[in-house]
Amino acid sequence: MPVNEVPMGPQKKIALVAHDNKKQDLYEWAKYNRELLGHHQLFATGTTGKILEEELDLEVVKLESGPLGGDQQIGAKISEGEIDFVIFFWDPLEPHPHDPDVKALLRIAVVWNIPVACNRATADFMISSPLMEKTYRRQVPDYSAYRGRAASPSL
Ligand code: PGA
Repeated sequence: MPVNEVPMGPQKKIALVAHDNKKQDLYEWAKYNRELLGHHQLFATGTTGKILEEELDLEVVKLESGPLGGDQQIGAKISEGEIDFVIFFWDPLEPHPHDPDVKALLRIAVVWNIPVACNRATADFMISSPLMEKTYRRQVPDYSAYRGRAASPSL
């Protein structure tokens, strides 16, 4: 499939989400990386965003809480090109009412070739990458043929 290149500038548009059992992890990671995170534009689901704002004094665009649609809002923003980086500490040991939304968000991140960290080690590697402070030309499959396909064989 042909690809288009989408430039991600030095200021990344980063979404942060943590399930309740992972909020402490995300808070500690964000505290350690507070200065770096301050160089980027941050979005978060409601409660995660509140923690980042109140505890770390970071400027965050707060979306709805995850179980109330926040994960889906992040997915929609990825499709619209408004978010280009995701830190998503989901909980592998507990079922959640919004498990389908979690899967949907991870799926849409792959559709648009968005970097996603689902645990602290990955987030450490990602945030310390030299690409964080540079323009990165993200390759996105060219979906125009998919968009232009016939809705049904009879049309
Ligand atoms: P929250 O949502 O930040 O509002 O807790 C996170 C989630 O559960 O997806």
